[in-house]
Amino acid sequence: MQALKPELYALPEVGGEPPMLKGGRCGRCGYTFFPMQAYGCERCGSTELAPVSLVGHGRLVASARVLLHARPERQPPFVVVAVRLDDGPMVRTLLAQDTEEPLPVDTPMATCTVAAGQSESGEPLVDLRFAPEH
Ligand SMILES: [Zn+2]
Repeated sequence: MQALKPELYALPEVGGEPPMLKGGRCGRCGYTFFPMQAYGCERCGSTELAPVSLVGHGRLVASARVLLHARPERQPPFVVVAVRLDDGPMVRTLLAQDTEEPLPVDTPMATCTVAAGQSESGEPLVDLRFAPEH
């Protein structure tokens, strides 16, 4: 099993915690962000930025169900979510499963993986999503 976007997240060990997100932290002011970048801190401008693993837990800030999408490879319906990670940064991504019932704001959320086709060598690929935590 391989990650579709290994630069953004790390797959868990078998039976382990939800996938970790690959963010960064400023060495001068401590600001934590996602995804990792090397251009400079959004808060203080410092380039002393170091990679940091962010736990795959957070709380739902907003969600929107998409019923029509301009790109044919994105099959609606699906739900876009904004999740505030426990480590601070906000992540915009997709809900693992479509739902007609809107999730309440502040729902505890966790990262998970969904099947995302195959690599060129035929290995199964997975991509990152969020799902309500049980
Ligand atoms: Zn900073």
